[in-house]
Amino acid sequence: MRPFKHLFGITDLDSEQIKYLVNLGHSFIDINRRSIKKAPTLRGKTIINLFFENSTRTRTSFELAGKRLSADVINISASTSATKKGESLLDTGMTLAAMQPHVLVIRHSIAGTCEFLADYLGDTSIVNAGDGAHEHPTQILTDLLTLKQSWDSMEDKVITIVGDIAHSRVARSHLIAAQKLGYKMRVVAPKTLLPSDIERYGCEVYHDFDAALPGSDAVYMLRMQTERMTDNCSIPSIREYHEAYGLNRARLNAAGSDTLVLHPGPMNRGVEIATDVADSVNSHVLSQVEHGVAIRMAVLAALCGGNDAEEIPPKRNRRTKREMEEDAMKSKEGFWS
Ligand code: ASP
Repeated sequence: MRPFKHLFGITDLDSEQIKYLVNLGHSFIDINRRSIKKAPTLRGKTIINLFFENSTRTRTSFELAGKRLSADVINISASTSATKKGESLLDTGMTLAAMQPHVLVIRHSIAGTCEFLADYLGDTSIVNAGDGAHEHPTQILTDLLTLKQSWDSMEDKVITIVGDIAHSRVARSHLIAAQKLGYKMRVVAPKTLLPSDIERYGCEVYHDFDAALPGSDAVYMLRMQTERMTDNCSIPSIREYHEAYGLNRARLNAAGSDTLVLHPGPMNRGVEIATDVADSVNSHVLSQVEHGVAIRMAVLAALCGGNDAEEIPPKRNRRTKREMEEDAMKSKEGFWS
């Protein structure tokens, strides 16, 4: 695998790196399920999470990921940072980098923030935890790890992504990943919620949700990202939006009993997804959350050079080294190898 210093987006990863991170994430799932959730992989490393946008899942999972791998983790949010006192983003970035962290995890509302800062922050690795409507690479790696649990291969799988595509960094990163890994994306949205450059991603575009459902192996629902909408005429009303673009039981049945339901969270129940669908056996939403921790462990480990879940010391009540090796062999076969 080609090593990398920063993770700005799926754009910068090749298929081998994507698969490597998903497989490494897979090997970390187990740590999170043990009673003592600690491994020494990142001992002596410092990680700073710098979040200028709200977050529950991403921020918490980066923090847990670092702590469970024994790194020192500091969290800073916009409301408590010196940007509130008029400091520029660049000065905040350079100030934190002067404290010699190994990794700076950044979420910001402006696309390209991480690339911009990277030029000024010396040796510090930067991870994009979501930059405006641009990219959210660790969410896509999380989703791929979730899908890997159900599917042996991504090839020729059809993921139908529905909702506010225009403002979604998750949709954009998936469209890029699909081109690299060979899965198919169907995009479903009203014209007002589609990006103008959608053609470049080689996906199928639908305005009629029901027409897109047959043959969908997974349906991926998106929240309306109202925080990024500059006008209020993107949809007629919440009720009409739910009727046209909400995933309800009838639509899930039309898609098929094996269809997986995904959502990056936060869900708006009754808007893009009905409660009984969100809580159904088809829903993998909470698995996505669980896998989010494992993937962020993998990303931090890959950036800090601790690429091996087997650095974990042996412990009773968990898999033997031999079982882990067998698992690793299995994941080396086929699509994910
Ligand atoms: N959590 C995802 C993101 O940060 C999706 C969302 O906010 O709707 O992009």
